[in-house]
Amino acid sequence: MFQTILSTIDLYQTIIIHRHQRPDPDALGSQLGLREILRHNFPEKNILATGLDEPSLAWMADMDLVSDHDYQGALVIVTDTANQPRIDDQRYQQGDFLIKIDHHPNHDAYGHLSYVDTQASSTSEIITEFALKTALTLTKEAARLLYAGIIGDTGRFLYPSTSAKTLRLAAELRAFDVDFAAMARQMDTFPYNIAKLQGYIFEHLDISENGVARITLTQDILKTYQVLEAETSAIVSSPGKIDMVQAWAIFVEQADRHSYRVRLRSKEVVINTIAQEHDGGGHPLASGANSYSLEENEQIFQKMIKAVTQKEIQDEIH
Ligand code: AMP
Repeated sequence: MFQTILSTIDLYQTIIIHRHQRPDPDALGSQLGLREILRHNFPEKNILATGLDEPSLAWMADMDLVSDHDYQGALVIVTDTANQPRIDDQRYQQGDFLIKIDHHPNHDAYGHLSYVDTQASSTSEIITEFALKTALTLTKEAARLLYAGIIGDTGRFLYPSTSAKTLRLAAELRAFDVDFAAMARQMDTFPYNIAKLQGYIFEHLDISENGVARITLTQDILKTYQVLEAETSAIVSSPGKIDMVQAWAIFVEQADRHSYRVRLRSKEVVINTIAQEHDGGGHPLASGANSYSLEENEQIFQKMIKAVTQKEIQDEIH
């Protein structure tokens, strides 16, 4: 499949790369890492990356200005995006040929060609493998971007999605002369207001008897701590640091003050099935949903409690 993707890339003069809305390091790492690899290996081609800038990740790279005209006869590649509504920049259909490259469950198999590996820790891992297997030259900048994507999605090799292959591919990237320690530090530090918000979260976390935690971040709380919604990524993993917490939900109130972005995480129990029932999706242990009322928030919390209880019962039987 990697060879087919490479042969398709060979055929096109303009290649436009998309990724998902509200990008995280893996979305940007895979998108911009691929842009860098293709620019280096095909200097005569016009390689562009589109999507809204994410200020909190400005250290990764900048987006290109892509015109409607650029899409004429172009190859479009979408990285790290499971379903079409989440693709940043809906012009992705205006190209001549569409390729999906992703590591999320493939419920929406869009594109003329798709490469989906749910065993991969990150789409950046897939792009690294793609470059190595097709003998495309990696550059220092590509290594920086792809490594950022891999450590972003694996929590610096903490989550179960980290495999021996992840480490082997990351080792290839790590051989480049990049200050990886500084990068890891940058991704592991946060501004003082985020630290204070962490304090608020630990203080107000509601934890069920079987270790399901929830916290609601209202617009007022975000305002008090001067935190933008995008910055809540910095605190998503915090509840999981508590030993008794098995799974957790962070409900972020939206500007309309009655709907919520729900960020779901779990140590072992599968929770993306719950996300799918609430206008969302994602990975088994890290997913996102949308809720449209406090009642729906409660339903999500109760479903998580039930899922953890069922897992406990199964574990007892085995
Ligand atoms: P987040 O909490 O936004 O970091 O999302 C965690 C994971 O869930 C990521 O892999 C996202 O791609 C996925 N995800 C988040 N929100 C949604 C959504 N509304 N629909 C489908 N997948 C989502």
